[in-house]
Amino acid sequence: MQKDLTLLLSLQEIDDQLGELERSKIYLPEMIGNLEMEVAGMGQAVAENEKILEESQRQQKLWELEIESEKQELEKYQKQMRVIKTNKEYDALTAEIDSKKLSIADKEEKILALMSSADEAREKLAVLQNSLKEVQSRNGEQLIQLRAQESTLQAKIEDKLEKRRDLIKDINKQVVGVYERVRKGKGGMAVVPIRKRACSGCFKQIPPQRIQEIRRGDRIFSCDSCGRILTWTEEESN
Ligand SMILES: [Zn+2]
Repeated sequence: MQKDLTLLLSLQEIDDQLGELERSKIYLPEMIGNLEMEVAGMGQAVAENEKILEESQRQQKLWELEIESEKQELEKYQKQMRVIKTNKEYDALTAEIDSKKLSIADKEEKILALMSSADEAREKLAVLQNSLKEVQSRNGEQLIQLRAQESTLQAKIEDKLEKRRDLIKDINKQVVGVYERVRKGKGGMAVVPIRKRACSGCFKQIPPQRIQEIRRGDRIFSCDSCGRILTWTEEESN
């Protein structure tokens, strides 16, 4: 058989293997992405709840400080009460005292509500943190496996590509051109054997004289009908 044809068959074999490797790799990025997204989403939920909790603690401290200062003012008013001279002063001070007491009671109530919602938030946060740990450990293991699988496949692909580059150097450029065009156009086999005196790619009969030429292997022949490169195998002569 012609040297180029032999090399083309090796090239086709490598390309088939490459195709298979690419196919087995194709679903990995999505799987990896989904697992990563699940971890990130859970992490975000934890972070959001931590922020809500921090914010509520900050608010609580703020109100506590305000209550403290209001209580000091209240004490001051109550001391003034003892030295009051007129009814008018008494009424004004009483109004101030009542308003401070109301304001303090209001903030104390708000703090209680805040503490109760903070308790809920803490429980929710604990549950979320637990789920995050679970997801991190479960997805983490899977991610390690999938990434290893991906890099193994990638290494195999690189290896095949290198072999392909080496091989292609030794084949006539025009022949490679025909091969690549047919392979792209037909989505697969570009070099096919003659079977029952026909192209085994499209089943078009081949004239006996052409079969003789292909059998001699002086040069490369393509199928008139589908353009695939035709090879003669010894099976056909039996
Ligand atoms: Zn054909």
